[in-house]
Amino acid sequence: MVRVLTRTPYWCRSVNPTTFLIIHDDKFAEHPFIYVKVCINEKSAPLIVFDTGCGPGAALSEDLFYKDLKDFLLHFPVAANGDCPLAIYPIVSNGGVQCRERPIIIINTHCHFDHIGGNESFSLLSSSIFASGYDEDFLRDDSTGHPDQKTPRQENSLCDTVGMRLPRYKITSFLKDRQHLLGSLESLHTPGHTPDSLSIYDHQQGVLYVGDLFYRRKCALPDHRIIFQPIMFPASGSWIDYMRSLQKLKAFIGQVEYTLFSHGKRNIMISASHTTAEVPAMELLESVIRFFDDIITGKLEPRETFLKQGEYYSLWKYDEEDPEFSVVAPSRLLSEVWEAKNSTAIDLTPTGNLRLV
Ligand SMILES: [Zn+2]
Ligand SMILES: [Zn+2]
Repeated sequence: MVRVLTRTPYWCRSVNPTTFLIIHDDKFAEHPFIYVKVCINEKSAPLIVFDTGCGPGAALSEDLFYKDLKDFLLHFPVAANGDCPLAIYPIVSNGGVQCRERPIIIINTHCHFDHIGGNESFSLLSSSIFASGYDEDFLRDDSTGHPDQKTPRQENSLCDTVGMRLPRYKITSFLKDRQHLLGSLESLHTPGHTPDSLSIYDHQQGVLYVGDLFYRRKCALPDHRIIFQPIMFPASGSWIDYMRSLQKLKAFIGQVEYTLFSHGKRNIMISASHTTAEVPAMELLESVIRFFDDIITGKLEPRETFLKQGEYYSLWKYDEEDPEFSVVAPSRLLSEVWEAKNSTAIDLTPTGNLRLV
């Protein structure tokens, strides 16, 4: 059941036995989906938080409580968690009950402002912050010695595009591809939306978290507002990497489901960082691959093209009443795929393995 919280900018509900979905109702209308995994039966187990939303400065009103995600996790009683805040667990000792804080671990699916907004508070708490190790330079935040020169993290976070200060935070661990971590999790490098796009598979619950890689165009918020969100690509996106990542996830899901089936278990699900939580993984992924194949083969042409920050962007969606996806990307990303396909030096196979030969 969805619990509508009128006094905080966060809605929270349980999505599986160990995971909660928190939706940030933010002033940028990004409505990022934040997932929080808590092992209820393991008292001192850490709270694992996938992304931190748009940050405390993005609240729609000053009157709200717990604008900082850290405060929400530490202080807001969640009904589906026995009316305990998600980061707190009770300890019964000598006839009394004491509340203890769980250690919090942040995993960033990538560095965009709507995913790292709350990182600073967790960094101050000395929480671990994990990010993709695919391209560490993309996330560098050390000064170059030129005060007016932006660091890569400043540039790539897109904070400037919405007038937000880049949160100060230290990445404590860069995750490798196919790295197993924190008991049941496995990281997968899935560049394309950005070079640092990271997917995480939860082996315990059979859920694949894909960040901003893809999600459905439409969703209803807990307050019944309907929102529409295109799959967005920034200037740092790459459709060559993207198509490879989609094929990589398809192969991964196929492998995992094959093993699950042989043990008589269920299909796996996908949860994204916008609009889409816990939907059958293979069905959604095959549908998004078909959509991008139609764009790349020219079957689906852009509906509009417009100039944004000095670059031409296009919008694609099927000419239907309620299409499942829409995408907005620099038009250049499509040309790059075409050039790669025409190049004899590069083999863009249907399995998505882009190999330099
Ligand atoms: Zn993003
Ligand atoms: Zn996002």
